[in-house]
Amino acid sequence: MRTTYGEKVLLVDDSKAITRLLRDRCEVVAGVETETAGSLAEVMASIESDPDRFFLAVVDLNLPDAPDGEVVDYVLAHEIPVVVLTGHYDDATRERMLAKNVVDYLVKASVHEIEHAAHLVRRIRRNREVQVLVVDDSRAYRQYIGELLSLQHLRVLYAENGREALAVMDREPGISLVVTDYNMPELDGLGLITALRQRRGRDDLAIIGVSDTNQPSLPARLLKTGANDFITKPFLVEEFYCRVTQNLDLVEQIRAIRESAVRDYLTGLYNRRHLFEAGEALYSQARRGHTSLAAVMLDIDHFKRVNDTYGHLAGDRVLKEIAGVLAKGLRRADLIGRYGGEEFCILLPGIERDALLAKLESLRDRVARTPIAHGAEQLSVTISMGANLEPAETLQALIDRADAALYQAKEGGRNRAVMADDLPAVASGGLNSATSAGPPTGAAPAPPPPV
Ligand code: GH3
Ligand code: MG
Ligand code: MG
Repeated sequence: MRTTYGEKVLLVDDSKAITRLLRDRCEVVAGVETETAGSLAEVMASIESDPDRFFLAVVDLNLPDAPDGEVVDYVLAHEIPVVVLTGHYDDATRERMLAKNVVDYLVKASVHEIEHAAHLVRRIRRNREVQVLVVDDSRAYRQYIGELLSLQHLRVLYAENGREALAVMDREPGISLVVTDYNMPELDGLGLITALRQRRGRDDLAIIGVSDTNQPSLPARLLKTGANDFITKPFLVEEFYCRVTQNLDLVEQIRAIRESAVRDYLTGLYNRRHLFEAGEALYSQARRGHTSLAAVMLDIDHFKRVNDTYGHLAGDRVLKEIAGVLAKGLRRADLIGRYGGEEFCILLPGIERDALLAKLESLRDRVARTPIAHGAEQLSVTISMGANLEPAETLQALIDRADAALYQAKEGGRNRAVMADDLPAVASGGLNSATSAGPPTGAAPAPPPPV
């Protein structure tokens, strides 16, 4: 089996209108690069020069120089998976094609099928990053299912029984789909599904149970135990692929929705709601373990000027860039979110005062040194920060103290950081008592215009 595949899909049809439509949909829907061919001769020329650049071919069975699907054998011989897109449905041809292990057999009756083909192309392109675990004690079935899945470019892992499957799942937390047999020694399919569901929900891990025709009650039991779907042995390859695709699509869609619910649309950082949710967990961990938790409130200086001078879109771009600079400057354990407008909040667990001061200075410095392209010009911005490392009664109180310090950083001239423990005990007010992690207050330059 070939192990390296390129980035392109080869689209083969003698109708220019069809290849144009397909190419358009593949590029728009799937975001995949395409090449087209209108005859077997063109396919041969294209593939012979460098077969490795294709990961898939979508082919028409009837070409002027190959009227009976000869192109399928040619493409498969170069180990490029094939989706057949044919002019009319015919049972015998369909059987013949599926027996060759083509990925799918579609009839181009309407735009709908073209759209379907484009979705399939996208699915198969994504499959390369998708891990699937096949669990079956029968070596032959394990291999058969594994080969079917590999044909769709999925990354396949194997286990011989439920117990082994759980060990693989522990080792490989990224697995998205488990296809499991029922009857197995050590731990059977139902036992495996029960154990898996204690770790991961239906919308995070898809499970397809494989039953057989002798046990009519099994599908219902598999579903009730927590399988997303089932398939009965022996099955049609087409049905198997449909179930795999639908289940993978569903898990991916739910993941995407989850992600978008916790992310800020513009910057990609966590949104305020998630910052508080995840922040509460950090806060109670720190309290329980008597470890430190620092809160930093951070605000871009004179950001209104950026908008006024360069326009709102440029302002958006600045926000994105600065968010990226900040995120890159943090440790894995740190939590950063967009608090509002041009304000960010960072929570840093287990950090000492000196390390925190150094971190603030490095963030301040990095932001100030980051040029942001605006046409031929380059602009730059600075940030002010307030940080609090003193324990507080609530997460909100911890952040509020950091915010009071931020206020002092602004008052003190901007482009600097102020620690809350340098503020007078009764919150904000005293102007001169604040020390700075940025340039010393006295020497602070006037805030640079955003140029
Ligand atoms: P300071 O140094 O005191 O923080 O001054 P500032 O101008 O940064 O603060 P101010 O609060 O007066 O203005 C913030 C501006 O940020 C006003 C608002 O229009 C802008 N803003 C907030 N959210 C966004 C956004 O998502 N995109 C853009 N482009 N601008 C935003
Ligand atoms: Mg601001
Ligand atoms: Mg502001």
